[in-house]
This record gives sequence, structure tokens and C-alpha cells, in this order.
Amino acid sequence: MKLARVTKKGNRSFYIEFLAMTLLPLIVCGIVMIMVCSRSVQLSMTSEAEDNLKNVAISVLAAYDHEYPGDYEARVEGDKARIFKGNTDISDDFSLVDDIEAKSRLKISLFLYDTRVITTLKDRDGSRLTMTVASEKIVNEVFKERTPMFYDNVSIEGIEYYAYYMPLIKKDNSECVGMIGVAKPADDLKASINRSVTNNLIIMVLAILVTSFFIMRFASTLVTVVKHMLDFMKKLADNKLDTKLDASVSQREDELGEMGRNLNSLQIALRRLIERDVLTGLFNRRSAEKKIDDIEDSGVKYCVAIGDIDHFKNFNDTFGHECGDVVLREVAHLLNDGMNKHEGFVARWGGEEFLLVFANAGIDDAYDALMIIRQALHDKEVEYNGQIHKVTMTFGAAEKIPGVAINHLIRAADDKLYEGKQGGRDRVII
Ligand code: GH3
Ligand code: MG
Ligand code: MG
Repeated sequence: MKLARVTKKGNRSFYIEFLAMTLLPLIVCGIVMIMVCSRSVQLSMTSEAEDNLKNVAISVLAAYDHEYPGDYEARVEGDKARIFKGNTDISDDFSLVDDIEAKSRLKISLFLYDTRVITTLKDRDGSRLTMTVASEKIVNEVFKERTPMFYDNVSIEGIEYYAYYMPLIKKDNSECVGMIGVAKPADDLKASINRSVTNNLIIMVLAILVTSFFIMRFASTLVTVVKHMLDFMKKLADNKLDTKLDASVSQREDELGEMGRNLNSLQIALRRLIERDVLTGLFNRRSAEKKIDDIEDSGVKYCVAIGDIDHFKNFNDTFGHECGDVVLREVAHLLNDGMNKHEGFVARWGGEEFLLVFANAGIDDAYDALMIIRQALHDKEVEYNGQIHKVTMTFGAAEKIPGVAINHLIRAADDKLYEGKQGGRDRVII
């Protein structure tokens, strides 16, 4: 129960921790990148717009210089201010700016001092916005300070523009006559910035989603593997030594697969340690009792036999304990071989006594099998330190009788063994 609780808690926190350590930084980085990208797109498109406006302003200047050589001059005729280029009054000539607007799609204005006299800007009715004035800030910075400036928030008749203004200075630098302004509706630029930012946003979100999908899939595979291993270890801890680790774990080619294969080896070693006798490698008494219970539960008929090495104390005393151990191992090997042809098993019952269980067999079958084994033992020569040793064994066997407890059955076999010993040993008594 305790282990089960730990298992559940461990799983949950591992999964969440893994996702928190991978997805959270990914999402935070993604959001930061989206913000940085959006800002840089905005800055680069604004600076591109500035360059474009500036270039068009310079080409407007060049076009006027080419069309009307000479200097700019302001003259007052009557109550009207007129702008001259050389000796030509250009105040009513809109064709040049209209041409440039058609090519550049930018709004162009020529100011006399602070007032628009030539412009492609029109109101809703289509009338040119002449005789409108530039803002105080623009007049101060561009006209008075004679400094070209870019603005990203110029409002003209309620519409927002990005605009570039250049002062119109006489060639001898004696006077600033006015300004040239080139403007682009802010909505146009904002729309293209938004389009570009949206595209970036979609790509980023898609990249985050795809990466998140793979991270989550990886995390869930990892958790499944860990869960299989925990389930397996829990069953081992609950003494279910027959349990199998899910094949998907040990088939993996990575470190987790290696862990799985090591767990399988650990299980084999554990089973051996718990179920087997160290000296002979046969089942020990504890697992033998369990195996008889299993045969009993299966309901088949079966016989038990106890075999005991004859005069083994003398043997040990004469040839030494180590030689006795070698004989025990050889006897175990021979008994195991003998049982291989029959259903059932052989176990080391204690000291030099062995338990043989014949499943699906009556007492006559068991007797025949035991006689063959006894004879093989009788004929067996065990070599130790260059010397040949011979041992014999006496067997007592009994058949399972319904309703009789297992310990009574074993006692019956033991009684027969005693009978065999009394009768001269090296024999099988049923
Ligand atoms: P019997 O024919 O009546 O069975 O005579 P026995 O001498 O075999 O009977 P006894 O029960 O007096 O002696 C059993 C001996 O088995 C005693 C002990 O020294 C020996 N023995 C038990 N376990 C081991 C073991 O693991 N290694 C060795 N070498 N000897 C063992
Ligand atoms: Mg004995
Ligand atoms: Mg003995």
C-alpha cells in the first residue's frame, strides 16, 4: 500500500515537473520572441518608410530644380503670397507633384513658410488642402531650425500620416522660404506592419504547438515506461516473482531499455536467491511447499517421494565435508535429470534429503521412475581429488489421497523412507 502511494505520487510529479521544465520556458521564450519580433518588424518597416519618404522628398526637390531652374522665392501679390522658382510662379502648377504622387503613391506638399500652397492632399470633396498650415512643432523644428525631420504621427485634417519634412532654403543660405512635406497614411503602414506581425505570430504559435506536441508525447512515453517499471517493482516487492516487465520497456534501445533489461536480470537473480538452494541449485524447501500447494490447487493426481543419501554422515566423516558437497551437487544434478522426463519437480528438502513430486502420476508411475533414478545413482561414479566415490540413496513414496493434508502425505513418504532404511537401504518403498 505504501509503495503504491509513493508510485502514484512519483508519477504525477515527474510528468508535471517535466512539462513545467520544458513547456514553460518554451512558451515564455516564444512570447518574448513574438514581442521582440513584432517590435523589430515595426521598427524596420517604419525606418523603411522614413527612407522612402526622404527619397521621394529629395526627388521632388530635384524635379522642381530640373523643371524650373533658379532659386525659391516668396512674393506677395495683392493679398496673396506666391511661390516662385527662378522667375516662374509655380503656385498653381500641381502637375509635377501629381505625377510624383501617381508614381510613389505618397502625398506631396510645398509650403510657403508654414502654409501649404501646392499639395496633392485633398479633402473628402476632392478639393486640394491648400492654404492649410503645418503644426507649430513642425514649423519650429523644420522651418525655423532648418532641420529635415521624420514624424510618425502627423495629423492632417483628422487623418494620421507618417511624414518627412525638408526645409526649402535659398541657395545662398540667406532665407528659409518654406518646406517640402511627403506623407503616407499611417493606416497603410500599420496594415502592412500588422500583416507581417500576424504572419510571424502564426509561424511562432505553430512552431510552439508542434514542439509542445512532441515534448508532451515524449513525456507521456517516458511516464508510461517509468510506470511499467514501477508496477513491475511493486509486484516483485509483493512477492509476485512470476510477474513480467512490459516488453515495450526492455525492447527500447536507450538507457531506459537498459534499465528494463537490468530489472529483468535483477528479477532472475532475486528468484534464484529466494527460490533456489545455493549449494545444489534445486528448489529450496520454501518454494517446494509453494509448488506442491499449486499442484494441489490444480486438482491433478500426484505422488511425493523423499530420497535420502545412505550413510552420508560416514561419507562426510571419511572423505571430508567438501567432498560431501561435491556429491550432493552431483546427486542433485542426477535427480534433476531423472525428473526431466516427468511432470513435477525435485527440491532439496534439507541436509541430504530430497523431495520429488510427480504430477499427473499414480504411485506405480512414480515407483518406476524412482527405480530408474535409484539405479542411475547406484551406477554413478563421483570423482573428487582424483578418487572415485560411490553413493546410494533410499526413497520412500506415497500417493495423494483426496482429503489427506499435504504434511500427512509427506509424513507417509517419510515413513516409507524409514522402512527402506530399515530394510537395508538403496531401495524404493511405496
Ligand atoms: P542414513 O543412511 O541413515 O541416512 O545415514 P546418514 O549418515 O546419511 O544419516 P544422518 O542423518 O545421521 O546424517 C546426515 C548427514 O548429512 C549429516 C551431515 O553431516 C550431512 N549433511 C547434511 N547437510 C550437508 C551439507 O550441506 N553438506 C555436507 N557435506 N554434508 C551434509
Ligand atoms: Mg537424513
Ligand atoms: Mg542419510
